[in-house]
Amino acid sequence: MADLVELKKHVQEAVEALRERLNEVARWIYSNPELGSEEFRAAELLTKELERHGFHVKRGLLGMPTAFCATYKGRGYGPRVAIVAEYDALPGMGHGCGHNLIAASAIGAGIAASSVMGELEGEVLVVGTPAEEGRGPSGGSKVIMVDKGFWDDIDAAVMLHPSTRWGVGYRALGIWNLTMEFEGQTSHAAASPHEGVNALNAATLAYMATHMLRQEARRDANLVIHGIISEGGLASNVIPDRAVCNFGIRSSDEEYLREMVDKVERCAEGAALALGAKVRVTKKKLYSGKKINEPLVEVLWHNYNSQGVEMKTWKESINGMPMASTDFGDVSQRIPAAGSNIKIAEPGTPGHSRQMADASITPEGLEAMIVGTKALAMTLVELLAEPEKLKKAKECFDNH
Ligand SMILES: [Zn+2]
Ligand SMILES: [Zn+2]
Repeated sequence: MADLVELKKHVQEAVEALRERLNEVARWIYSNPELGSEEFRAAELLTKELERHGFHVKRGLLGMPTAFCATYKGRGYGPRVAIVAEYDALPGMGHGCGHNLIAASAIGAGIAASSVMGELEGEVLVVGTPAEEGRGPSGGSKVIMVDKGFWDDIDAAVMLHPSTRWGVGYRALGIWNLTMEFEGQTSHAAASPHEGVNALNAATLAYMATHMLRQEARRDANLVIHGIISEGGLASNVIPDRAVCNFGIRSSDEEYLREMVDKVERCAEGAALALGAKVRVTKKKLYSGKKINEPLVEVLWHNYNSQGVEMKTWKESINGMPMASTDFGDVSQRIPAAGSNIKIAEPGTPGHSRQMADASITPEGLEAMIVGTKALAMTLVELLAEPEKLKKAKECFDNH
């Protein structure tokens, strides 16, 4: 088995050799943003580049036209480790989430790792996962891939995401959507209110009851409930017969989240019962929370730290407060997985903004992408060269 220090040195040099091309890819995707499920040109660019470097590419993965899986085999049978790519843009702001950098770094790390696969057993995969922002038929593609068993024979997955800070092992919240549709009876609001059933009143009561749940929320579970009343009548002199509430409910604890979703449903039912309305509740799980894999986070962290990146320790990061949700959370619930953040903009730069998109192609943004690419490539190689680390990751996954 080749020396790990040598292998890491080699893949970092391989990333350096790719630097100009990766910058070009990041800039091209920035200049040609495509919305989720429509990332045809980005997928074509990425898969062509991978094929040019000897990867075997499967396009149109699992019936999703812009999903792909690219594989590069080592010298013998062994573990399969994956880098996850995203490349969807946002409406009105192009790459306001910086997925152009996720795409370029993923192919860069995969290609760099492939350059030493002659000395390693196993396989490197670059997995193209469209529509992370949840748009179109491939929306939340990683969840679709979970449901179809795609990840089951992959031993570990890593990725990076642009941010305003460096970090490894950040957490993410699970999220459910819940819609309440109240049905009542219209009537004249002054002449015959007694003949009506006010659906808006039922919706308001449900909305208030849902807010009141918060007081008893577990403080360690990072519960977030955000909602709106999206329909509430058409004229003030008519008692409304239809009102609709939409809620997003998030938590870092999956089981608790399900419990809270049921409690919010009860708020709807109770409000409807109280006011004599009918209610239909639709509950839909969107993304799972992140399951933290400590051994994997540690390997990834060291591969950033060895490049002199200043960031919190991995233990501090995994104890940090989770902010949002991602379909990578679902991958982490199925196999050992770890994410990282690269700093492309100053703190205070909003996520999902034109400023964030522009930060992705500044010299600093592109340099951060190269650092992240090296860290991901070294991590892939380290996991294949020292499979006991993968074993530890698997044990951690099984015991949580
Ligand atoms: Zn986003
Ligand atoms: Zn994103």
